Amino acid sequence: MNRPFRVGLTGGIGSGKTTVAGLFHQQGVTVIDADDIAHELVEPGQPGYKAVLEFFGRDIAGASGTLDRKRMRQLVFSDPEKKQALESILHPLVYNEIENRIATIDSAYCIIAIPLLLETGGERHVDRVLAVDCDEEDQIQRAIIRDNTDRDDIMSIMATQVTRERRLAKADDIIRNDRDISYLVQQVADLDSRYRAMAASANQ
Ligand code: ATP
Repeated sequence: MNRPFRVGLTGGIGSGKTTVAGLFHQQGVTVIDADDIAHELVEPGQPGYKAVLEFFGRDIAGASGTLDRKRMRQLVFSDPEKKQALESILHPLVYNEIENRIATIDSAYCIIAIPLLLETGGERHVDRVLAVDCDEEDQIQRAIIRDNTDRDDIMSIMATQVTRERRLAKADDIIRNDRDISYLVQQVADLDSRYRAMAASANQ
């Protein structure tokens, strides 16, 4: 079986990655979501679960055994070293599972949605980096509404992500999300044709 061509989809908080991933899915493209994998990996019995218990101590799990995610976030939020240590345990598990899933698909190419692709050295796992980009003010407003939170909260998350300039400099392809959804549909359709062609020539 041919190796599927891998497109890494990334972008800052609220930029429109999930929306774009959904449009690729509608085109029949396999989408692998790193956030979903990260959540699944820390469910009781999964490989990340034991690692997180060892890291934080058993009290981080509630009576039902499920991890207290809010508490986990609080514990690492103001402690960058602790956050980094936790990520150094979980990120390799996520990339490992991404590889497992790619090995099971038989489509010509796949979209791997990885919000922190550039922050975690994920470029080596993909053939092409696709960034969703919009003005930072749009990003902030969309995220505030979606998450029902405030500006400071969104800004503090943005501060942990690469800058817009760096993301754009690293991207092979860029989707502009500064108009309505039909503009996204059009860009996704164009890229889908290009990626199918790239996948076909990569496998010749
Ligand atoms: P995160 O990384 O925070 O999960 P994301 O990059 O996946 O965010 P989305 O969830 O796709 O971003 O979009 C953020 C919000 O903005 C959603 O509520 C989405 O419906 C909305 N949105 C995305 N694109 C547009 C657009 N072009 N016009 C209006 N709203 C949009």
